Amino acid sequence: MRLDKMLSNMGVGTRKEVKAMLKKSLVTVNDASVKNGSKHIDPEIDVVKVDGQKIVYEKYIYLMLHKPDGILSATRDYHTRTVVDLIDPYFQHFQPFPVGRLDKDTEGLLLLTNDGDLAHRLLSPKKNVEKTYFATIEGRVTDEDIRKFKDGVDIGETELAKPAELVILRSGSISEIELTITEGKFHQVKRMFEAVGKKVTYLKRLRMGELTLDPSLPKGEYRRLNEEELAYCE
Ligand code: URA
Repeated sequence: MRLDKMLSNMGVGTRKEVKAMLKKSLVTVNDASVKNGSKHIDPEIDVVKVDGQKIVYEKYIYLMLHKPDGILSATRDYHTRTVVDLIDPYFQHFQPFPVGRLDKDTEGLLLLTNDGDLAHRLLSPKKNVEKTYFATIEGRVTDEDIRKFKDGVDIGETELAKPAELVILRSGSISEIELTITEGKFHQVKRMFEAVGKKVTYLKRLRMGELTLDPSLPKGEYRRLNEEELAYCE
C-alpha cells in the first residue's frame, strides 16, 4: 500500500499533514528517508518511522462505519456490495467483520472489527447491550405503544420481546421515534412495530452500548474508534 495512506490510516495525521511530514524528511522506511508518499510499502515487513518513532503495526482494528442503505452487513457477497467492500484494502487485510447485522435497508452505526472477543461481549444476549434506533413509522405512534413496548410485545417468538423504551419525537400519519432495545433478533425493530400494527419505513441505528454514531461521519464513510471509544470496548 501507499506510504501516505498507511500513515494517515494509522492516525499519524491527515493526508495533508502526512504530506508535510514527508516533505520535511520526517519519514523513514527501513531507516532510509522517503519524501514520496506514493511509495509502496508492506506495513507488515517494512519499518516505518515518523520523526524517529516507529509506527506500530497493530493486531486488531476497530472501525465505526455509517452504513448506508443498500449494503449488506456481511463480509463477502457475490451479488451485493457488503460493508467490508466499503473499507480500504489496508483494513480489509485485517479481515474485519460487522458486529451484529443491520438489514440491507437499515442505515447507521456499525462496528467493524477483527476482535472476536469484543464482538462476543457486545452481541451476547446475556449482556443486554442497549441499541438505540431512530425510525420513521407509517401511522400514528401513541402513548399506548410506549406502554406496550415497555411491557414487551409479541413478535412471534416463544417469549415476548424484552421491555423496550420508545420515545415519540413526532406523532402523525408519519411518525418519528427513537427506540432502545436490548435484543438483536432478526428484523427486531420492524417486527416490534408490526406487533402494534405499524410499519417501519426508515430505520437508522444511533447507538450500541457506549458507542454512538459520530454525527459528523457521512453515510458510507468510516473512521477508527478514538481512544475514549476504544476504552468502552475493553
Ligand atoms: N431491527 C430491524 O428490524 N432491522 C435492523 O436492521 C436492526 C434492528
